[in-house]
Formats: sequence, structure tokens, C-alpha cells
Amino acid sequence: MLRVNPLNPKDRVRIPRQACLEQPARTRWSTFQEVSSGFDHEQARLEASRCLECRDPVCTKGCPVGVDVRGFIQDLLRDDIATAAERIRRTNALPAICGRVCPQESQCEAACTMGRKFEPVAIGKLERFVADWEAAHRPAWQRPAPRPTGPRVAVVGSGPAGLTCAAELAQRGYRVTVLEALHALGGVLRYGIPEFRLPREVLDRELRLLGALGVETRTNVLVGRSVTIDELMDEEGFTAVFLATGAGTPLFLGIPGENLCGVYSANEFLTRVNLMGAHRFPEHATPVRLGREVAVVGGGNTAMDAVRTARRLGAEKAWLLYRRSRQEMPARVEEIHHAEQEGVDIRFLTSPVRIVGDAAAAVTGIECETMELGAPDASGRRRPVAVPGSTHVLPVQTVIVAVGQRPNPIVQATTPGLGTGAHGVVTVDEAQRTNRPGVFAGGDLSRGGATVILAMRDGRRAAAAIDDWVREGALRPA
Ligand code: FAD
Ligand code: SF4
Repeated sequence: MLRVNPLNPKDRVRIPRQACLEQPARTRWSTFQEVSSGFDHEQARLEASRCLECRDPVCTKGCPVGVDVRGFIQDLLRDDIATAAERIRRTNALPAICGRVCPQESQCEAACTMGRKFEPVAIGKLERFVADWEAAHRPAWQRPAPRPTGPRVAVVGSGPAGLTCAAELAQRGYRVTVLEALHALGGVLRYGIPEFRLPREVLDRELRLLGALGVETRTNVLVGRSVTIDELMDEEGFTAVFLATGAGTPLFLGIPGENLCGVYSANEFLTRVNLMGAHRFPEHATPVRLGREVAVVGGGNTAMDAVRTARRLGAEKAWLLYRRSRQEMPARVEEIHHAEQEGVDIRFLTSPVRIVGDAAAAVTGIECETMELGAPDASGRRRPVAVPGSTHVLPVQTVIVAVGQRPNPIVQATTPGLGTGAHGVVTVDEAQRTNRPGVFAGGDLSRGGATVILAMRDGRRAAAAIDDWVREGALRPA
């Protein structure tokens, strides 16, 4: 194996992991500008020179889409950033997005050899640096693709699963149409993750590249209502369909008071702000009502985004209530750190039992119990158990519930015979095939709530399986 790093391993481990420049916490409250500025060129070069260039690059095995991490870091060390970008794009259609939102600490960076004794190489930040460099220096570059003249494929839903599948199929010469229920493309990348984590121009650039590949997009089309899967295949002439409608139906706590005025699902709250511009009301038509004191319930990325958004909208006190401890929290470590920097009061081992209201049915508080961790449950995590006599009320005027979501049932209900499993997820095999010939599915629709990169992996797999299916069909006698 060719080694590029001029430093010997002892010198490499002496270089500290580089930290990105960030907006100071005190100035973040009034702005949705991105918190982290990413690496500059010098930091990227230093961070790349920490790579041990392992013979067996385990980081790539830790990445769900198998990015050639050692390869692109070596390109960086040669100062050949264009090649680094091309290398990443071979397996990852959305690198600037993954570099920002992937839970690297449990994926590529968890596998990094340097991380066994020292801090792992900051793979995600390096990936972001390369992708941002590409956006600035080669904004229109993408992998060469044939003219789209092949069979027609419909992709339902424009989140990371749908966008990746569409890009992969277009790269293979298919004529692809993306159908999206909302008026704007991107799925959770647009309506869920706030701009202070994922600026919209990053997503918009990826969408421009998709358009340049010849992918047709139709917004405001609710598949299952405007048109069914059978109509797409039997009447509109689509040879195959990829279902990627996500998991946009929020779960609730099932406690008294959840229908009071001032209770939102995180999904609705974030959509109002991110998609409808409610933070700029009345300039935008959609309002959002927020009290001075806000409680967000949950411990995942959605809860973090909701509570940090609430702070930016003026909440003077923002609690995040999570029923387990910090160790079990599923949110990205960086988001937890940023939330704490921004003054969010995270109450671990705290579980709501009732939302309290006044005579006008408006929220005035949230009653909680303190928990302790008992024996492990089915998920392997220790089950939270209420401490007797620990009930207490936090004074709040707004409660935002972020305790998970499941697939919207419309497509399943209007596609006869489509196999589904627990909580309405669409059942697929390892190639993302459903039980209906020519119908494939992936992302949160087949997983329940998961991650951007797992949705993208499903999109890639589905594109390969659709290609196989079409080719096999062409070989079958009519
Ligand atoms: P989605 O992104 O949900 O996209 C589905 C699309 O389908 C939507 O645009 C929807 O409008 C459309 N649709 C639905 N029904 C229909 C229909 N009938 N007809 C047409 N279109 C339809 N993951 C991470 O890895 N890192 C993070 O930091 C992170 N943060 C998150 C923050 C929030 C607030 C949320 C909600 C999720 C977060 N996730 C994160 C999870 C991640 O965003 C999802 O796992 C991922 O977006 C799933 O992708 P998808 O393509 O399957 O679905
Ligand atoms: Fe790591 Fe995500 Fe990049 Fe893969 S795509 S190398 S998991 S940051």
C-alpha cells in the first residue's frame, strides 16, 4: 500500500484533533446561521496528517455507504481536493450533508484506529471540508452520466433515500421522476433539520445537480391521493417505483393534557419554522406561538433541533426532558454539546406524567417524575423506573413532543397487497424489494425513524436492485 503521509506515526499522534471555528453561544440565540464554520485549509491539512493510513481501513467498514476514507484523506495530503471530492462522490451522493449531520461518532469515527488510544480522525469534518471546497471551486461538477433514455422510474418522496436513488438511477441512464407531497424538495433535510445545522444552500446545490442529471421533479403530488402506485405503473408507464415516503407521523406521549393549547409535535413545530418560515411571521403567513418557558420531551436529534429552535425563537427558559441518562441519549454528541452551550437545561431521568392547563385550556405546566435506571429492557438499555414521591411541576407555556415517529400510512393503504410490518413500515428484503414486483422501498419508510446515511444506503441499494430487475425483465421472453 502506498503511503502518502510524510510524518512518522509518533508525530501523527502528537497532533491534536482540530476543532472547527464556531459562532459564540451568546450570539446564536438571535440567528439561524450555521453554528460551525468547518475546517479551513490549514486545519484540514493538519487533521488529514493525523491519519495512520491503516493497511485495513476499518473506517470505511464503519461507514454505511463505504466511503473510501483513507483514499480521500491521502488525496487531501497530496492537496488534490478535486480528486478527494470525486472519490467521495463515488459512493456518497450527498457528502456536504453527511459531513454535517452523520452521527460519525458511532460510524466511521467509531472504527478509526487512532480512536483506540487517542481522539479519532475527524472524518466527518474532513468530508465536509472537501464537499464545501467542491461547492466553492467546481459548483457544477458531477460524475459523468449518460443521456437519460432508459426505462422510466418513479421515486416517491424526496428525502435522502429518494434523492440518492434518483441520482444513482440517473447516473445509469434511467428517466427518473421524483414525486413529492410538499411544495419543496428535500424531506427532513428541508422541513426537519434547521438551518443552523444544515444551511439550505447546501441542499439546494445537491438538488441543482440532480436537475442537471435530467431528473424530473413534481411537487405537491400526494401519492396515494393524487395518484396511486398502480396508476403510476399501469397508466403512466413507469417500469418501477421506489417508495421513500419517510416516517413523518409523530408519536405522542399518551398522557393527560396532550390536547391543550400550546402542545406541539416536534414535527409540526419544526415544519412551521423550517418550511413555512414561521420565525419570520407576519412576513410569512404561518405563525408559531411560543411561551417564555418551553419543555421539549425526548432525547434524539429531533428533540435537540426543537429545543435549540425554541431558544432562537425567544424562549427564555428551555428544558429538555429525557427519561434515561446521558449515556443512553440517541442525539449526536455535538448537538447535545451545542444545546448545553446555548443554555438548554437538560433534565436527565425525568419523565412527564401530565400536562397541566388553565381554564382557557392553555398549557401552564408539565408534571414530571424523576426516574432511576433499572434492569435492561428489550432494546438492551436499562429501563427507567419512577422514584416514588418524586413528582414535580415545571412551569411552562409550551410543550413540544419529540418521542419518535412512524410512517404515514397513505401509500400502504392504497397499494393493494403491499407487505407491511410493525408500526406500518413497508417490508423489504436485503435488496429493498417489496413483495410487489417492480415496487421497492427504503429509508425511514422501511426502518421507522433512522438516519440520513442509512436512508441513502437504502436508496443506493434500491437503484442497483431496480437496474437488475429491469435487466432481468428485458431478458425474459414476452
Ligand atoms: P424523509 O427525509 O422523511 O423524506 C420523505 C419525503 O417523502 C418527505 O419529503 C415527504 O414529504 C415525502 N412524502 C411522504 N408521503 C408522501 C406521499 N404520499 N407522496 C409523496 N411524497 C410523500 N439523521 C441523521 O443522520 N442526522 C441528524 O442529525 C438527523 N437529524 C434529524 C432531525 C430531525 C428534526 C428529524 C425529524 C430527523 C433527523 N434525522 C437525522 C433522521 C433523518 O433525517 C431521517 O432518517 C431521514 O431523513 C430519512 O430519510 P427518508 O428519505 O427515508 O425520508
Ligand atoms: Fe462517516 Fe457519514 Fe462520511 Fe460515511 S458518509 S464516512 S459515516 S461521515
